Amino acid sequence: MNTDVRGKRIIVMGLGRFGGGVGVSRWLAAQGADVLVTDQAAEADLADSILKLDRSRFTWRLGGHDPADLDRADLLVVSPAVDKPRSEFFQAAVNRRIPWTTEMNLFLERCPANLIGITGSAGKSTTTAMAGAILEAAATADTPLKGKRVLIGGNIGRSLLDEISTIKPDDWVILELSSFQLEDAAGIRRSPTVALITNLRPNHLDRHGDMESYANAKLNIARFQSSADVTFIHESESDLRTRLEALKLRSPIRTFGDRATHDQLASALRVPGRHNRDNAAAALAIAGHLNVPDTVSLAALAEFRGLPHRLEFVRDHNGIQYFNDSKSTTPESARIALEAFEYPVVILLGGYDKHVEFDDLASAAARRARAAICYGAVREKIAASIQTAAPRLQVQIVPDLPAALAAARSTAQTGDVVVLSPACASYDQFINYEQRGELFRKLVTVLP
Ligand code: ADP
Repeated sequence: MNTDVRGKRIIVMGLGRFGGGVGVSRWLAAQGADVLVTDQAAEADLADSILKLDRSRFTWRLGGHDPADLDRADLLVVSPAVDKPRSEFFQAAVNRRIPWTTEMNLFLERCPANLIGITGSAGKSTTTAMAGAILEAAATADTPLKGKRVLIGGNIGRSLLDEISTIKPDDWVILELSSFQLEDAAGIRRSPTVALITNLRPNHLDRHGDMESYANAKLNIARFQSSADVTFIHESESDLRTRLEALKLRSPIRTFGDRATHDQLASALRVPGRHNRDNAAAALAIAGHLNVPDTVSLAALAEFRGLPHRLEFVRDHNGIQYFNDSKSTTPESARIALEAFEYPVVILLGGYDKHVEFDDLASAAARRARAAICYGAVREKIAASIQTAAPRLQVQIVPDLPAALAAARSTAQTGDVVVLSPACASYDQFINYEQRGELFRKLVTVLP
């Protein structure tokens, strides 16, 4: 039975900045619930989320939680970001036997549509967006999905709860599901009809405790399936397969990521890198299961430019391709960016100094880069690392991002790639990585 919310006194714990808290608060208020929104973060840090809500319809408790609020609560709606075992406020609610749920569980309980769920340690958002792009194309082409409505949401940053009243049984809903959302989903015992796990690597173990509990949370995406459902995993994920088989589900396990598909995708995709071919192969497998012809899927994938700020293709200008990878805030992600391209790379590196080492990145640059342009607060330090690991590589030191782009433009040769994959946080010169990426995109777009 669905959790009853009408007329109830409900506490939303964790408004956050990624859509879930806003979506559930708005929906609960529309159901006639009496809603108190509480968050550890201060009002100023939540300004963007608060602006999306009608302030006067809610009671607010920001900058910390007050256990006294539990006196008036029939239900607690907890954000996936809350570390429940370690949260005093959550534990106080449990001790008082106040029932709790989540935005995703409220949605899953009510969603009548065909459900596709995507999880994994890396590649969730990209695979979800690719599957979404394919199914949206399939809905306007001569395929079994023709005329159907396709909705994309979940951890990718959009709550669909708000739209639940418009969702029909023959719609297709694609959800990105994080390990935290899946851990909580055990509470309602529902798995998507089509489940896909991109890969399984140790991740978030600070919260899940160990690999067992992390894997168990991820497996909830398949655990409650029936024999008519299906779960897809990458063919190289043998540990994951063993874990899935141990569940003895009635739903079949299918694989994706074979060599032939990779070869086919290598020429079709605009987004670079082996990891993106895996993500595309995953999306292609889902579409194939729904009998969408490969020609339709491949055409949609060829158009896919990547998610904003994640190796996002911006422009081909005078035979040089420009990519925005502003979400790269660690040396590891900049290394993945360098290794994604088969062409000489001019990489823009720099930003706020988090006191990390750049040695591995410097060796990758030695192998793959034509030049490194270093800017921002950490510029001297990165430049020094690179010059040690790659004495022959061209390194330039400039003050800021516009100067870095200008330097890259004059250094790059026809056939090269210029990528902003800064390996550092942006706080020295920007509010966040989005603002940094948007400036880069704008500067590239107006290059004369
Ligand atoms: P998630 O949503 O799981 O965090 P994203 O799709 O946002 O993953 O990709 C984030 C980063 O993870 C990418 O920029 C890339 O460095 C890495 N990545 C993406 N897909 C994969 C994959 N299939 N395997 C390994 N790493 C990947």
